[in-house]
Amino acid sequence: MKQEAFPLIFERGGKGRRAFKLPSLDVPEVEAREKERYSAYFRTEAPLLPEVSEPELIRHYTGLSNRNFGVDTGFYPLGSCTMKYNPKINEKIARLPGLTDLHPYQPEETVQGALKLMYELKTMLAEITGMDDFTLQPAAGSHGEFTGLLIIRAALEAEGKKRRKVIAPDSAHGTNPASVSMAGFEAVSIPSDERGRVDLRALKDALDDDTAALMLTNPNTLGLFESDIVEIVEAVHAVGAYVYYDGANLNAIMGKSRPGDMGFDVVHLNVHKTFSTPHGGGGPGAGPVGVKAHLTPYLPLPRIEREGAEKGEARYTLIYNAPKSIGRVRGFAFSFGVLVRAYSYIRALGGKGLKQVSEDAVLNANYLLSRLKEAYDLPYPGPVKHEFVLSGSRQKAHGVRTLDIAKRLMDFGFHPPTIYFPLIVEEALMIEPTETETKETLDAFAEALLTIAREAATTPEVVKGAPQSTPVGRLDEALAARKPVVVYRPDKERS
Ligand SMILES: *Cc1c(COP(=O)(O)O)cnc(C)c1O
Repeated sequence: MKQEAFPLIFERGGKGRRAFKLPSLDVPEVEAREKERYSAYFRTEAPLLPEVSEPELIRHYTGLSNRNFGVDTGFYPLGSCTMKYNPKINEKIARLPGLTDLHPYQPEETVQGALKLMYELKTMLAEITGMDDFTLQPAAGSHGEFTGLLIIRAALEAEGKKRRKVIAPDSAHGTNPASVSMAGFEAVSIPSDERGRVDLRALKDALDDDTAALMLTNPNTLGLFESDIVEIVEAVHAVGAYVYYDGANLNAIMGKSRPGDMGFDVVHLNVHKTFSTPHGGGGPGAGPVGVKAHLTPYLPLPRIEREGAEKGEARYTLIYNAPKSIGRVRGFAFSFGVLVRAYSYIRALGGKGLKQVSEDAVLNANYLLSRLKEAYDLPYPGPVKHEFVLSGSRQKAHGVRTLDIAKRLMDFGFHPPTIYFPLIVEEALMIEPTETETKETLDAFAEALLTIAREAATTPEVVKGAPQSTPVGRLDEALAARKPVVVYRPDKERS
């Protein structure tokens, strides 16, 4: 069923219509002060605003909101992104007036509860990951990577080591090499082996006394746990380099294994993936970074500390001074509201609940994979952890590309999975169902993908012509990105 095209707000309404009218002025009009000085900023023409009645206004925005696709409206199996359902209780907690009415410049004695919350959160994250301390500052996963690399750089400098290279596997998330360059290092890519895991020999060949660190995502972006993890960590440490754990995929291993126990020095988490805080839309987000004891002196400032707990008089303070710290990585202390949601999520589930999250995420991924692997190629065999990567190469033989399959899924009411990533899989379809979906949803999604595979073989034009049910069909994505039209130019008549 095709949805109607949606008019711009400027195409609604009519001349002189208003949603809201101010009463006419009943006090004497006065001249603006220093009018001359600011005259350059005065309008000479009335602004171009839509002229709509209140119901038209409300229907416009409500209509637009109905066109959004989100995890609250449907299945969103975007691989690598963990688009799981965010329990609404988190929102309720984060909206408590005692939390929302705080000001970052309030005296510390008046925000002890808020600081306690953050202190407890970092302690819980340290326990979940097996690290010694955490900073809650970074505002995103990639910002966490950048922060972690600056910590490693500071530590190397303190050791008198000048090292330039940071190694990451070719399956790494694009933010890894980007963070490496931003932190002033040189990114070195190593190939994956035929099992889709780190090629130990290639790693050992790349390691030398110019290596600053290895950045590793585990489970990797193919959804596979690095089976040689201990050997990998030992090899990196043997050349005096650090091991960095990209923990964006923690949803697969919570309560099962911990980066700290695997020997990692630094880890970042994506609370907007694993701990169900808001996701996307440009933030604010949070990407806390955990370190082992030998790196705690370099953590950014301010740091949150507790004193007097042993005497039963715990007091929480923000520390703004530490000689070896890398300094600030953002304004104020942290994305407080986002982190309250993570705190609420962790406390609601507890240790057992978090473990079950991972077990269910892995179960769902493997169930879906088992339903799909006859119809689509699976270049790197499972069992997998929380996600898997199919290849559309069999469908490509019929002239149907993975992009077509993704677009066709929209006609079945599903958000398409991540496509063409990781780069090491031809025509990749990267699917992450998450633990919050029911078997019925997984079955419906599997049926849609099986139908599309049949269509690709028998009626490829249907798949290539998708989507048919959306207000607009295929967009010229390159043009939309390079020449976005963000200004409305009304026709003469209306202006
Ligand atoms: C999402 C993700 C990132 C980046 O996190 P952002 O919060 O989007 O900056 C890094 N690494 C991996 C493996 C990811 O999945």
